[in-house]
Amino acid sequence: MSSVWSDKSKPVKFRKLKNDIDTDILIIGGGIAGILCAYFLQQKNADYVLVEADRICKGITANTTAKITYQHGLIFDDMINRFGKDFAGEYIKANKNALEQYKSLADKIDCDFEVKDNYIYSVFNKEKIYNEVKALNSIGENARLCKTSELPFSADAVKIENQAQFNPLKLLYGISKDLNIYEYTKVRELIGTKVITDKAVINARKIIVATHFPFVNKHGFYFFKMYQHRSYVIALKNSENLQGMYVDENKRGLSFRTYKDLLLIGGEGNKTGQRCAGWSELISIAEKYYPNSEIKYKWATQDCMTLDDIPYIGQYSENTPNMFVITGFNKWGMTSAMAGAELLSDLVLERENEFENIFSPSRSIIRKQLFVNGFNAVKNIVIPGGKRCPHMGCKLKWNKGEKTWDCPCHGSRFSKYGTLLDNPSTGDLK
Ligand SMILES: Cc1cc2nc3c(=O)[nH]c(=O)nc-3n(C[C@H](O)[C@H](O)[C@H](O)COP(=O)(O)OP(=O)(O)OC[C@H]3O[C@@H](n4cnc5c(N)ncnc54)[C@H](O)[C@@H]3O)c2cc1C
Repeated sequence: MSSVWSDKSKPVKFRKLKNDIDTDILIIGGGIAGILCAYFLQQKNADYVLVEADRICKGITANTTAKITYQHGLIFDDMINRFGKDFAGEYIKANKNALEQYKSLADKIDCDFEVKDNYIYSVFNKEKIYNEVKALNSIGENARLCKTSELPFSADAVKIENQAQFNPLKLLYGISKDLNIYEYTKVRELIGTKVITDKAVINARKIIVATHFPFVNKHGFYFFKMYQHRSYVIALKNSENLQGMYVDENKRGLSFRTYKDLLLIGGEGNKTGQRCAGWSELISIAEKYYPNSEIKYKWATQDCMTLDDIPYIGQYSENTPNMFVITGFNKWGMTSAMAGAELLSDLVLERENEFENIFSPSRSIIRKQLFVNGFNAVKNIVIPGGKRCPHMGCKLKWNKGEKTWDCPCHGSRFSKYGTLLDNPSTGDLK
């Protein structure tokens, strides 16, 4: 069940940290967010170290669909209404810069990078699509209202030209070769900026937590501010060769892109720990629309969803001046990680960055979703019996499709034998 990216890229290996070290900046986590932080810090000649619990690029990043776009769903009409046009313009600028960064990296590293148009579509809600086009046009973006012509069903869509797609692992392994990384080095505990791993202690001046779901609970309230949403992907041979990249505006809808001779279809998403049929619906869709196709790969993954569709990138909390975080990508981690890594590489070096306020984790959390998250957590903590998540004690749900134990509160996942698969839990089931 590994992704096409894992199959079509050659990993680079790093040694384990065995001796105590001092460093100016410690990055915890070797997914796209952590590796890009290391990349920018290296460019700025900073003294840094990245530690990864397992092998790099084996977490969520290995299982993405890797579309590089600043069109993060139908968020801009709502964002303009809530935060204003200047804010939405800055958000787009940060992500456009990220797209440009990818273009220039792809000139140096072979990562199957292709420029593509991106479409967010809706089968039923033309008005929402129309409002989004209007909102994007009002801040100077060349968004177009159109009908999808390549999909096996008809839908209205917002089109943005000249976005991109790639193989993320080829790029990240290419970058990582020259970075200062230790693998199989799990951070067990933070005592201020003293970091305890299994074999060694790291004394850092500043810390970047890039562990996907942040694992430090006593600051920042990330366990209230985020939940995880899981989706499934299949890769088909002998189907269509689409020119564009597509995603439904509805969280439960489908996403499409090609990779070489494969068509990738993603979907059947749900909050982690809720009803889940695995890949079965996607397989039915393949049989219905692409009857001559063959499934070559299938995989699944999940991402952290924030209260307001904007990632949390910046100081971990107001009272942790030396600890930073990069998380909450809402399934748009390619550009968000690039934009966020550049931002954090400035903040940890005490330099100014124009996007600091856009992504600040200390912004207001008064949103309806906060109460939904809180209610859901309390409900699953007080229900008696069953297997409990080591993170905060929520009752785990059995995921029939994947044969795993999943936490409906914060999205930790465990194999049927109790081995930790996805954080924020830091350990196996007892
Ligand atoms: C189905 C799906 C499709 C997606 N498609 C797209 C897309 O098309 N475009 C897009 O922009 N985004 C997409 N995303 C989102 C994107 O894939 C993610 O946002 C991104 O990969 C997350 O990267 P990360 O570095 O935060 O996490 P990860 O890749 O999980 O990296 C975190 C790392 O931290 C390590 N770690 C954890 N705890 C510790 C510890 N205590 N000590 C040391 N290391 C630790 C883990 O082992 C892991 O390697 C998609 C998401 C999903 C769910």
